[in-house]
Amino acid sequence: MTGKTFDLAIVGAGILGVACALAAARSGKRIVVIDRDAQANGASVRNFGFITVTGQQAGDCWRRAMRSRDVWDEIAPQAGVDVVHEGLLVIARRPEAARVLEAFALSAMGAGCRLHEGATAARLQPGLRSGFEAVLESPHERRVESRDALPRLAAWLERAHGVAFLRNTAALGVTRHGVATSRGEISAGAVVVCAGDDFHTLFSERIAPYRLTRCKLQMLRARPRGGIAVRRALMTDLSLARYLGYAELPEAQALRRRLDAEQSAHLAAGVHLIVVGAADGSMVVGDSHVYADTPDPFAVEAFDELILDEYEALFGDRPAIEERWTGTYASAEDRLMLVDAPYPNVRIAIVTSGTGASTAFAIGEEIVGGLLGAGSTPAHESSMMRR
Ligand SMILES: Cc1cc2nc3c(=O)[nH]c(=O)nc-3n(C[C@H](O)[C@H](O)[C@H](O)COP(=O)(O)OP(=O)(O)OC[C@H]3O[C@@H](n4cnc5c(N)ncnc54)[C@H](O)[C@@H]3O)c2cc1C
Repeated sequence: MTGKTFDLAIVGAGILGVACALAAARSGKRIVVIDRDAQANGASVRNFGFITVTGQQAGDCWRRAMRSRDVWDEIAPQAGVDVVHEGLLVIARRPEAARVLEAFALSAMGAGCRLHEGATAARLQPGLRSGFEAVLESPHERRVESRDALPRLAAWLERAHGVAFLRNTAALGVTRHGVATSRGEISAGAVVVCAGDDFHTLFSERIAPYRLTRCKLQMLRARPRGGIAVRRALMTDLSLARYLGYAELPEAQALRRRLDAEQSAHLAAGVHLIVVGAADGSMVVGDSHVYADTPDPFAVEAFDELILDEYEALFGDRPAIEERWTGTYASAEDRLMLVDAPYPNVRIAIVTSGTGASTAFAIGEEIVGGLLGAGSTPAHESSMMRR
Protein backbone atom coordinates (compact mmCIF):
# COMPACT_ATOMS: atom_id res chain seq x y z
CA MET A 1 0.00 0.00 0.00
CA THR A 2 2.99 2.24 0.21
CA GLY A 3 3.27 4.15 -3.08
CA LYS A 4 -0.52 4.48 -3.31
CA THR A 5 -2.23 7.76 -2.31
CA PHE A 6 -5.36 7.75 -0.17
CA ASP A 7 -7.84 10.54 0.51
CA LEU A 8 -7.88 9.62 4.19
CA ALA A 9 -5.58 7.55 6.41
CA ILE A 10 -6.95 6.50 9.81
CA VAL A 11 -4.75 5.25 12.62
CA GLY A 12 -6.66 2.77 14.80
CA ALA A 13 -9.18 0.07 13.84
CA GLY A 14 -11.28 0.38 17.00
CA ILE A 15 -14.86 1.61 16.82
CA LEU A 16 -13.82 5.25 16.35
CA GLY A 17 -11.47 4.44 13.46
CA VAL A 18 -14.15 2.26 11.89
CA ALA A 19 -16.72 5.05 12.37
CA CYS A 20 -14.46 7.56 10.58
CA ALA A 21 -13.88 5.04 7.78
CA LEU A 22 -17.63 4.52 7.38
CA ALA A 23 -18.36 8.25 7.23
CA ALA A 24 -15.62 8.82 4.62
CA ALA A 25 -16.56 5.73 2.59
CA ARG A 26 -20.07 7.06 2.28
CA SER A 27 -18.71 10.08 0.45
CA GLY A 28 -16.74 7.87 -1.93
CA LYS A 29 -13.24 8.49 -0.56
CA ARG A 30 -10.23 6.17 -0.81
CA ILE A 31 -9.43 5.15 2.73
CA VAL A 32 -6.78 3.16 4.57
CA VAL A 33 -7.08 2.09 8.22
CA ILE A 34 -3.77 1.29 9.94
CA ASP A 35 -3.58 -0.79 13.13
CA ARG A 36 -0.65 -2.31 14.95
CA ASP A 37 -2.65 -5.41 15.90
CA ALA A 38 -3.91 -8.27 13.74
CA GLN A 39 -7.49 -7.45 14.75
CA ALA A 40 -9.14 -4.90 17.03
CA ASN A 41 -8.06 -5.78 20.56
CA GLY A 42 -8.59 -2.59 22.57
CA ALA A 43 -11.55 -1.08 24.40
CA SER A 44 -13.83 -1.60 21.42
CA VAL A 45 -13.88 -5.40 21.79
CA ARG A 46 -13.68 -5.48 25.60
CA ASN A 47 -16.79 -3.43 26.31
CA PHE A 48 -20.42 -4.46 26.86
CA GLY A 49 -21.39 -3.71 23.27
CA PHE A 50 -24.03 -1.62 24.99
CA ILE A 51 -25.11 1.28 22.79
CA THR A 52 -26.48 3.46 25.55
CA VAL A 53 -28.71 6.47 24.94
CA THR A 54 -30.73 6.89 28.14
CA GLY A 55 -28.37 8.08 30.87
CA GLN A 56 -25.86 9.81 28.61
CA GLN A 57 -25.16 13.42 29.53
CA ALA A 58 -27.80 15.86 28.27
CA GLY A 59 -26.78 17.79 25.16
CA ASP A 60 -24.12 16.68 22.68
CA CYS A 61 -23.44 13.26 24.20
CA TRP A 62 -27.10 12.24 24.25
CA ARG A 63 -27.59 13.59 20.70
CA ARG A 64 -24.53 11.71 19.44
CA ALA A 65 -25.72 8.51 21.12
CA MET A 66 -29.13 8.80 19.47
CA ARG A 67 -27.54 9.40 16.05
CA SER A 68 -25.03 6.56 16.53
CA ARG A 69 -27.84 4.20 17.54
CA ASP A 70 -29.58 5.04 14.25
CA VAL A 71 -26.37 4.30 12.32
CA TRP A 72 -26.03 0.93 14.12
CA ASP A 73 -29.63 0.13 13.12
CA GLU A 74 -28.90 1.00 9.51
CA ILE A 75 -25.61 -0.81 9.03
CA ALA A 76 -25.92 -3.84 11.33
CA PRO A 77 -28.01 -5.87 8.85
CA GLN A 78 -25.73 -4.89 5.95
CA ALA A 79 -22.59 -5.84 7.86
CA GLY A 80 -24.09 -9.06 9.26
CA VAL A 81 -23.90 -7.77 12.84
CA ASP A 82 -26.51 -9.32 15.13
CA VAL A 83 -28.37 -6.88 17.40
CA VAL A 84 -28.76 -9.18 20.41
CA HIS A 85 -31.38 -7.11 22.20
CA GLU A 86 -32.98 -3.67 22.38
CA GLY A 87 -33.89 -1.40 25.28
CA LEU A 88 -32.92 -0.92 28.91
CA LEU A 89 -34.51 -1.42 32.34
CA VAL A 90 -33.21 0.75 35.19
CA ILE A 91 -34.35 -0.85 38.43
CA ALA A 92 -34.66 1.44 41.46
CA ARG A 93 -33.86 -0.41 44.68
CA ARG A 94 -34.39 2.64 46.91
CA PRO A 95 -37.03 5.41 47.09
CA GLU A 96 -34.29 7.97 46.36
CA ALA A 97 -33.49 6.14 43.12
CA ALA A 98 -37.17 6.11 42.19
CA ARG A 99 -37.22 9.93 42.61
CA VAL A 100 -34.32 10.19 40.13
CA LEU A 101 -36.15 8.01 37.61
CA GLU A 102 -39.34 10.08 38.02
CA ALA A 103 -37.41 13.29 37.34
CA PHE A 104 -35.64 11.72 34.38
CA ALA A 105 -38.92 10.46 32.90
CA LEU A 106 -40.30 14.03 33.01
CA SER A 107 -37.20 15.52 31.32
CA ALA A 108 -36.81 15.94 27.56
CA MET A 109 -34.54 12.87 27.50
CA GLY A 110 -37.33 10.80 29.03
CA ALA A 111 -39.33 10.94 25.78
CA GLY A 112 -40.22 7.41 24.72
CA CYS A 113 -39.31 5.98 28.15
CA ARG A 114 -41.92 4.55 30.57
CA LEU A 115 -41.88 4.53 34.35
CA HIS A 116 -43.38 1.42 35.99
CA GLU A 117 -44.24 0.38 39.53
CA GLY A 118 -41.46 -1.68 41.10
CA ALA A 119 -43.84 -4.65 41.30
CA THR A 120 -43.75 -5.04 37.51
CA ALA A 121 -40.01 -5.74 37.43
CA ALA A 122 -40.32 -9.53 37.27
CA ARG A 123 -42.81 -9.26 34.41
CA LEU A 124 -40.43 -7.02 32.44
CA GLN A 125 -37.43 -9.30 33.13
CA PRO A 126 -38.21 -12.84 34.31
CA GLY A 127 -36.01 -13.96 37.20
CA LEU A 128 -35.86 -10.62 38.99
CA ARG A 129 -36.67 -10.52 42.72
CA SER A 130 -39.57 -8.53 44.12
CA GLY A 131 -39.52 -5.45 46.34
CA PHE A 132 -38.19 -2.81 43.96
CA GLU A 133 -39.36 0.79 44.08
CA ALA A 134 -39.70 1.60 40.36
CA VAL A 135 -38.48 0.57 36.91
CA LEU A 136 -37.61 2.89 34.02
CA GLU A 137 -38.05 1.21 30.65
CA SER A 138 -36.17 2.76 27.74
CA PRO A 139 -36.60 1.56 24.15
CA HIS A 140 -33.53 3.36 22.78
CA GLU A 141 -30.62 1.02 23.51
CA ARG A 142 -29.06 -1.68 21.37
CA ARG A 143 -26.68 -4.49 22.31
CA VAL A 144 -24.12 -6.07 19.96
CA GLU A 145 -21.42 -8.64 20.73
CA SER A 146 -18.44 -6.36 20.24
CA ARG A 147 -15.87 -9.11 19.74
CA ASP A 148 -17.87 -10.28 16.70
CA ALA A 149 -19.20 -6.91 15.59
CA LEU A 150 -15.85 -5.16 15.11
CA PRO A 151 -14.36 -7.79 12.74
CA ARG A 152 -17.63 -7.93 10.83
CA LEU A 153 -17.81 -4.15 10.43
CA ALA A 154 -14.22 -4.09 9.16
CA ALA A 155 -14.81 -6.95 6.72
CA TRP A 156 -17.94 -5.23 5.40
CA LEU A 157 -16.15 -1.89 4.94
CA GLU A 158 -13.43 -3.74 3.01
CA ARG A 159 -15.90 -5.71 0.88
CA ALA A 160 -18.66 -3.20 0.25
CA HIS A 161 -16.77 0.10 0.37
CA GLY A 162 -13.23 -0.78 -0.70
CA VAL A 163 -11.68 0.42 2.58
CA ALA A 164 -8.10 -0.91 2.88
CA PHE A 165 -7.01 -2.29 6.26
CA LEU A 166 -3.28 -2.36 6.95
CA ARG A 167 -2.90 -4.64 9.99
CA ASN A 168 0.15 -5.57 12.08
CA THR A 169 1.46 -2.12 11.22
CA ALA A 170 2.45 0.53 13.77
CA ALA A 171 1.99 4.20 12.93
CA LEU A 172 5.24 5.87 13.96
CA GLY A 173 4.61 9.48 12.91
CA VAL A 174 2.05 11.69 11.16
CA THR A 175 2.76 14.66 8.85
CA ARG A 176 0.60 16.82 6.59
CA HIS A 177 1.39 14.35 3.82
CA GLY A 178 0.49 11.08 5.46
CA VAL A 179 1.65 8.46 7.96
CA ALA A 180 5.10 6.95 8.57
CA THR A 181 4.54 3.32 9.52
CA SER A 182 6.61 0.28 10.45
CA ARG A 183 6.05 -0.85 6.83
CA GLY A 184 6.88 2.43 5.11
CA GLU A 185 5.20 5.73 4.22
CA ILE A 186 1.48 6.01 3.49
CA SER A 187 0.49 9.10 1.45
CA ALA A 188 -2.84 10.62 2.34
CA GLY A 189 -4.64 13.91 1.80
CA ALA A 190 -5.92 13.84 5.38
CA VAL A 191 -5.27 11.80 8.54
CA VAL A 192 -7.37 10.98 11.61
CA VAL A 193 -5.59 9.48 14.63
CA CYS A 194 -7.98 7.26 16.63
CA ALA A 195 -5.40 5.57 18.86
CA GLY A 196 -7.65 5.07 21.89
CA ASP A 197 -5.72 5.35 25.15
CA ASP A 198 -2.23 5.40 23.61
CA PHE A 199 -1.32 9.04 24.34
CA HIS A 200 2.42 8.79 23.77
CA THR A 201 3.21 7.30 20.36
CA LEU A 202 1.66 10.03 18.19
CA PHE A 203 1.33 13.73 19.09
CA SER A 204 2.34 13.15 22.72
CA GLU A 205 3.15 16.86 23.25
CA ARG A 206 -0.11 17.92 21.66
CA ILE A 207 -2.18 15.57 23.83
CA ALA A 208 -0.37 16.37 27.12
CA PRO A 209 -2.29 19.61 27.93
CA TYR A 210 -5.56 17.63 28.06
CA ARG A 211 -4.21 15.84 31.18
CA LEU A 212 -5.58 12.46 30.18
CA THR A 213 -5.33 9.29 32.20
CA ARG A 214 -6.67 5.79 31.78
CA CYS A 215 -9.55 3.98 33.38
CA LYS A 216 -9.29 0.23 34.07
CA LEU A 217 -12.47 -1.84 34.21
CA GLN A 218 -13.23 -5.43 35.28
CA MET A 219 -15.75 -7.47 33.33
CA LEU A 220 -17.35 -10.90 33.63
CA ARG A 221 -19.07 -13.28 31.26
CA ALA A 222 -21.55 -15.25 33.28
CA ARG A 223 -24.39 -17.71 32.87
CA PRO A 224 -27.61 -16.98 34.73
CA ARG A 225 -29.05 -19.69 37.01
CA GLY A 226 -32.44 -21.18 36.27
CA GLY A 227 -32.25 -20.77 32.50
CA ILE A 228 -33.44 -17.18 32.45
CA ALA A 229 -32.59 -15.09 29.39
CA VAL A 230 -31.57 -11.43 29.71
CA ARG A 231 -33.46 -9.69 26.92
CA ARG A 232 -32.72 -6.07 27.78
CA ALA A 233 -29.84 -4.23 29.42
CA LEU A 234 -30.23 -3.88 33.19
CA MET A 235 -28.91 -1.19 35.54
CA THR A 236 -29.52 -0.23 39.18
CA ASP A 237 -29.20 2.65 41.67
CA LEU A 238 -25.39 2.72 41.43
CA SER A 239 -25.63 3.59 37.72
CA LEU A 240 -27.82 6.60 38.56
CA ALA A 241 -24.92 8.07 40.52
CA ARG A 242 -22.49 7.40 37.65
CA TYR A 243 -24.24 8.19 34.35
CA LEU A 244 -24.38 11.94 33.93
CA GLY A 245 -27.87 12.01 32.37
CA TYR A 246 -29.17 10.97 35.81
CA ALA A 247 -26.35 12.06 38.13
CA GLU A 248 -26.66 15.71 37.07
CA LEU A 249 -30.35 15.85 38.07
CA PRO A 250 -30.87 17.59 41.44
CA GLU A 251 -32.77 14.51 42.69
CA ALA A 252 -29.56 12.44 42.41
CA GLN A 253 -27.99 14.20 45.39
CA ALA A 254 -30.16 12.45 47.98
CA LEU A 255 -29.46 9.12 46.31
CA ARG A 256 -25.74 9.81 46.33
CA ARG A 257 -25.84 10.53 50.08
CA ARG A 258 -27.60 7.24 50.75
CA LEU A 259 -25.18 5.29 48.54
CA ASP A 260 -22.24 6.94 50.33
CA ALA A 261 -23.67 5.57 53.58
CA GLU A 262 -24.72 2.12 52.33
CA GLN A 263 -22.43 1.15 49.41
CA SER A 264 -19.22 3.07 49.98
CA ALA A 265 -17.06 0.08 48.94
CA HIS A 266 -18.86 -0.03 45.60
CA LEU A 267 -18.40 3.69 45.08
CA ALA A 268 -14.70 3.56 46.04
CA ALA A 269 -14.07 0.88 43.39
CA GLY A 270 -16.25 2.70 40.86
CA VAL A 271 -18.52 -0.34 40.78
CA HIS A 272 -21.97 -0.16 39.27
CA LEU A 273 -24.02 -2.80 37.50
CA ILE A 274 -24.64 -3.35 33.82
CA VAL A 275 -26.03 -6.71 32.71
CA VAL A 276 -26.50 -7.47 29.01
CA GLY A 277 -27.52 -10.72 27.36
CA ALA A 278 -25.79 -12.72 24.62
CA ALA A 279 -27.16 -14.90 21.84
CA ASP A 280 -25.78 -18.10 23.47
CA GLY A 281 -27.70 -17.47 26.72
CA SER A 282 -24.69 -16.08 28.59
CA MET A 283 -24.49 -12.47 29.74
CA VAL A 284 -21.85 -9.80 30.23
CA VAL A 285 -21.80 -8.34 33.73
CA GLY A 286 -19.72 -5.42 35.01
CA ASP A 287 -18.00 -3.24 35.97
CA SER A 288 -15.44 -1.39 38.15
CA HIS A 289 -13.53 1.84 37.40
CA VAL A 290 -10.02 2.58 38.67
CA TYR A 291 -7.88 5.40 37.27
CA ALA A 292 -4.09 5.39 36.64
CA ASP A 293 -1.69 6.50 33.89
CA THR A 294 -0.57 2.88 33.53
CA PRO A 295 -3.21 0.65 35.12
CA ASP A 296 -1.86 -2.68 36.35
CA PRO A 297 -3.16 -5.76 34.49
CA PHE A 298 -4.48 -7.59 37.55
CA ALA A 299 -8.18 -8.22 38.18
CA VAL A 300 -9.09 -7.73 41.85
CA GLU A 301 -11.34 -10.52 43.14
CA ALA A 302 -12.95 -8.17 45.69
CA PHE A 303 -14.16 -5.92 42.86
CA ASP A 304 -15.80 -8.87 41.08
CA GLU A 305 -17.48 -9.73 44.39
CA LEU A 306 -18.88 -6.19 44.63
CA ILE A 307 -20.23 -6.43 41.08
CA LEU A 308 -21.81 -9.80 41.90
CA ASP A 309 -23.31 -8.43 45.16
CA GLU A 310 -25.24 -5.93 43.09
CA TYR A 311 -26.26 -8.65 40.63
CA GLU A 312 -27.51 -10.74 43.56
CA ALA A 313 -29.57 -7.79 44.80
CA LEU A 314 -31.46 -8.03 41.49
CA PHE A 315 -31.72 -11.78 40.92
CA GLY A 316 -31.36 -13.26 44.41
CA ASP A 317 -28.48 -15.54 43.39
CA ARG A 318 -25.08 -15.45 41.72
CA PRO A 319 -24.40 -16.58 38.17
CA ALA A 320 -21.71 -19.05 37.06
CA ILE A 321 -18.65 -17.15 35.82
CA GLU A 322 -17.24 -18.23 32.45
CA GLU A 323 -14.70 -15.50 31.64
CA ARG A 324 -13.04 -12.55 33.35
CA TRP A 325 -11.13 -9.73 31.66
CA THR A 326 -9.98 -6.18 32.14
CA GLY A 327 -10.09 -3.29 29.70
CA THR A 328 -8.94 0.29 29.66
CA TYR A 329 -10.17 3.49 28.07
CA ALA A 330 -9.00 7.11 27.92
CA SER A 331 -10.35 9.40 30.62
CA ALA A 332 -10.37 13.15 31.23
CA GLU A 333 -11.52 15.14 34.23
CA ASP A 334 -13.36 17.74 32.19
CA ARG A 335 -14.59 16.29 28.89
CA LEU A 336 -16.20 13.18 27.41
CA MET A 337 -14.33 13.35 24.09
CA LEU A 338 -11.86 15.57 22.30
CA VAL A 339 -10.93 16.39 18.72
CA ASP A 340 -7.71 18.32 18.17
CA ALA A 341 -6.30 19.66 14.88
CA PRO A 342 -2.48 19.66 14.89
CA TYR A 343 -2.55 20.51 11.15
CA PRO A 344 -5.46 21.73 9.00
CA ASN A 345 -5.77 18.26 7.40
CA VAL A 346 -5.04 16.15 10.50
CA ARG A 347 -7.25 15.32 13.51
CA ILE A 348 -6.58 13.55 16.78
CA ALA A 349 -9.82 12.05 18.11
CA ILE A 350 -10.13 10.51 21.57
CA VAL A 351 -13.25 9.41 23.44
CA THR A 352 -12.23 10.32 27.00
CA SER A 353 -15.03 8.45 28.79
CA GLY A 354 -16.82 5.11 28.64
CA THR A 355 -19.13 6.25 25.85
CA GLY A 356 -17.32 5.34 22.62
CA ALA A 357 -19.46 2.35 21.63
CA SER A 358 -22.49 4.63 22.00
CA THR A 359 -21.26 7.80 20.28
CA ALA A 360 -18.49 6.90 17.79
CA PHE A 361 -20.58 6.88 14.63
CA ALA A 362 -21.79 10.45 15.24
CA ILE A 363 -18.29 11.63 16.16
CA GLY A 364 -16.92 10.01 12.99
CA GLU A 365 -19.47 11.84 10.86
CA GLU A 366 -18.59 15.16 12.49
CA ILE A 367 -14.84 14.68 12.07
CA VAL A 368 -15.03 13.53 8.46
CA GLY A 369 -17.52 16.29 7.62
CA GLY A 370 -15.11 18.88 8.99
CA LEU A 371 -12.05 17.39 7.32
CA LEU A 372 -13.32 16.34 3.91
CA GLY A 373 -16.37 18.46 3.26
CA ALA A 374 -19.72 19.13 4.80
CA GLY A 375 -20.13 19.87 8.51
CA SER A 376 -17.75 21.15 11.12
CA THR A 377 -15.25 19.76 13.59
CA PRO A 378 -16.99 19.21 16.93
CA ALA A 379 -16.21 21.36 19.90
CA HIS A 380 -14.60 19.66 22.88
CA GLU A 381 -17.27 18.30 25.10
CA SER A 382 -17.25 19.09 28.78
CA SER A 383 -18.47 17.20 31.81
CA MET A 384 -17.95 17.84 35.48
CA MET A 385 -16.70 14.41 36.52
CA ARG A 386 -14.15 11.86 35.45
CA ARG A 387 -16.04 9.03 33.75
C1 LIG B 1 -14.52 -2.74 29.78
C2 LIG B 1 -15.11 -1.60 28.99
C3 LIG B 1 -16.48 -1.39 28.98
C4 LIG B 1 -17.02 -0.34 28.24
N1 LIG B 1 -18.38 -0.22 28.15
C5 LIG B 1 -18.92 0.67 27.29
C6 LIG B 1 -20.32 0.74 27.09
O1 LIG B 1 -21.10 0.01 27.70
N2 LIG B 1 -20.82 1.66 26.23
C7 LIG B 1 -20.00 2.51 25.56
O2 LIG B 1 -20.49 3.33 24.80
N3 LIG B 1 -18.67 2.47 25.71
C8 LIG B 1 -18.11 1.57 26.56
N4 LIG B 1 -16.76 1.53 26.73
C9 LIG B 1 -15.91 2.54 26.06
C10 LIG B 1 -15.66 2.21 24.61
O3 LIG B 1 -15.37 0.83 24.47
C11 LIG B 1 -14.51 3.09 24.11
O4 LIG B 1 -14.85 4.48 24.32
C12 LIG B 1 -14.23 2.88 22.64
O5 LIG B 1 -14.09 1.50 22.36
C13 LIG B 1 -12.97 3.62 22.21
O6 LIG B 1 -12.76 3.28 20.84
P1 LIG B 1 -11.43 3.69 20.11
O7 LIG B 1 -11.56 3.21 18.70
O8 LIG B 1 -11.15 5.13 20.34
O9 LIG B 1 -10.26 2.91 20.91
P2 LIG B 1 -9.75 1.39 20.84
O10 LIG B 1 -10.85 0.43 20.71
O11 LIG B 1 -8.82 1.22 21.98
O12 LIG B 1 -8.92 1.33 19.50
C14 LIG B 1 -7.70 2.00 19.29
C15 LIG B 1 -6.90 1.24 18.24
O13 LIG B 1 -5.78 2.03 17.88
C16 LIG B 1 -4.69 1.15 17.64
N5 LIG B 1 -3.47 1.95 17.79
C17 LIG B 1 -3.14 2.76 18.81
N6 LIG B 1 -1.96 3.36 18.56
C18 LIG B 1 -1.54 2.91 17.34
C19 LIG B 1 -0.38 3.17 16.54
N7 LIG B 1 0.57 4.03 16.89
N8 LIG B 1 -0.29 2.50 15.36
C20 LIG B 1 -1.24 1.63 14.97
N9 LIG B 1 -2.34 1.36 15.69
C21 LIG B 1 -2.49 2.01 16.85
C22 LIG B 1 -4.86 0.06 18.70
O14 LIG B 1 -4.19 -1.12 18.32
C23 LIG B 1 -6.38 -0.09 18.73
O15 LIG B 1 -6.83 -1.12 17.86
C24 LIG B 1 -16.17 0.53 27.51
C25 LIG B 1 -14.79 0.32 27.52
C26 LIG B 1 -14.25 -0.72 28.26
C27 LIG B 1 -12.76 -0.93 28.27
